[in-house]
Amino acid sequence: MLSSPIEEIKNRLDIVDVVSSYIKLHKAGVNYRAVCPFHTEKKPSFFVSPSRQIWHCFGSCSEGGDIFKFVMKIEGVEFGDALRILAQKAGVELKREDPKVKSQRQKLYEITELACKFFEKQLHNSSAGAAAKKYLLDRGLKEETIKIWRIGYAPDAWNGLTNFLIGKGYKSEDIEKAGLCLKSSKGQSYYDRFKARIIFPISNLSSQPIGFGGRTLKKQETAKYINSPATLLYDKSRVLYGLNKAGIAIRKNNSCILMEGYMDAIMSSQQGFENVAATSGTALTPFQLRILKRYSDNLYTAFDMDLAGDSATKRGINLAQAQGFNIKIITMPESKDPADIAKQGKFKQFIEKAKTIHDFYFDNTLSKFDKNTIEGKREISKILLPVIKRISNKIEQNVWIKDLANVLSVREEDVLEELSKTNLVREELVVEQKKESASQPTPKTRKELLEERLLSLLVKLPENVSLVSQQDLGLFSSQTISIIDYLKNKTKLSKELENKVNYLSLKAEIEEEEADLQKEFNCCFKEIRSLALKDKLAQICKDIRIAEQAKDSQKVQELVEKFCYYSKSKNDLETQTS
Ligand SMILES: [Zn+2]
Repeated sequence: MLSSPIEEIKNRLDIVDVVSSYIKLHKAGVNYRAVCPFHTEKKPSFFVSPSRQIWHCFGSCSEGGDIFKFVMKIEGVEFGDALRILAQKAGVELKREDPKVKSQRQKLYEITELACKFFEKQLHNSSAGAAAKKYLLDRGLKEETIKIWRIGYAPDAWNGLTNFLIGKGYKSEDIEKAGLCLKSSKGQSYYDRFKARIIFPISNLSSQPIGFGGRTLKKQETAKYINSPATLLYDKSRVLYGLNKAGIAIRKNNSCILMEGYMDAIMSSQQGFENVAATSGTALTPFQLRILKRYSDNLYTAFDMDLAGDSATKRGINLAQAQGFNIKIITMPESKDPADIAKQGKFKQFIEKAKTIHDFYFDNTLSKFDKNTIEGKREISKILLPVIKRISNKIEQNVWIKDLANVLSVREEDVLEELSKTNLVREELVVEQKKESASQPTPKTRKELLEERLLSLLVKLPENVSLVSQQDLGLFSSQTISIIDYLKNKTKLSKELENKVNYLSLKAEIEEEEADLQKEFNCCFKEIRSLALKDKLAQICKDIRIAEQAKDSQKVQELVEKFCYYSKSKNDLETQTS
């Protein structure tokens, strides 16, 4: 019998490869571990088991599953999309879907991909595209680079793309939902969003185009760049341009160079700095930083930095600093952007001269204000105190405090006092935390936790299974009973329970060894029995009350006997020495 595409994909792909194409994994015994990409943590509690082909987070999010679940979570997509992404990776062909049941998201992926092809063709094969291509070549891009980044051209036509897509069988409403056309104010007609612009496709981490940035070639045009609006696929606060290409290089270099524009990222990458990504005009968001954190803790920024005032770039840097990134700032000469510098082959020099955030802030403020005047001291401290306040590492913070006291020729205590009066704008951090706590799973009950611990100890000490009697089984949840039955008699498990056993085995593997496992097993078993007996007795009491109300004396008699029996068991258990 032919296996299903799901099994076929699982056979062909290794979970370690799939997961490590998104996050940095470290070998930990027979397993791999990482900082969990699904919740914020410092100590890595995310594990991948190659022998079981599963992953699990033993931290606060306690998420886990197989490759499909991982891709769904990390890409934020439905199962069907994860299936398509992994099928493509595995080279497994999926049967063509019925267009009627195609998900909205899938439709938008297709439209966006077709649009990307359309724009590429316009750039390379149309006469209007030739001018755009010349512009790109003149700026220093190679033909090959243009192809790799799939740069295209949107013709100066009312509805060239829209008509093309309609011709391919898509509805104008769907093209509008993909952000590619707009409805005219007068009536039912639609017109293209991008006209006479060089098009930079923006891709998700699986390199599927999800949106576009368009640069005008017309000098009189007011908007130099326009971008796709937010769609089901595209949310500018959640993507970093070029990260799909840069991921491996970022891990290899253990650093990411962040830039502002599409051209900056493309040109630097062409010059051999492949660990680049661009924010494409938006301020860095907590979400983007979380994605970056999966790759590296070290950031270089090549932004236009305005220290005074509350600029968007400064807020982004603050956020990165608060999230524990090591940040280095590449400073550019005025009127030059990274693309120009990369084109001149000078980018390496600038990276080498990148300043720590400490030096950057000190050098900049000191060059702007006179540290010898009262006015100057005030301005300098106004800029630096919030920066210092934000540093989470106390040792590092102390260095800054000392330096500031030194520079201003004041006592450290005075800096400390001013620091205590400094308030931070924290709304962005608060928003992020809120979102996180909302997605926390419901905590497990004490009994659930104990049963889980007992099972994982049984996995480690299989010979103890014989200590669990038939009577004890009545104390456990049906799930635990099935698993114990499986451990005893190797009965067949349902898919769900098989996952649970895999999870328990992984848990048993990664848990630090207790000094005396046997003793722990006995304690755990005793506690669970005592807890279960307590529950049982409470339930019997309730049943007795109901039977009494129903005047069912026989039932009452039976229940009282049962009560005595369990009550004796509980006493026996408690007097037992462990
Ligand atoms: Zn987690």
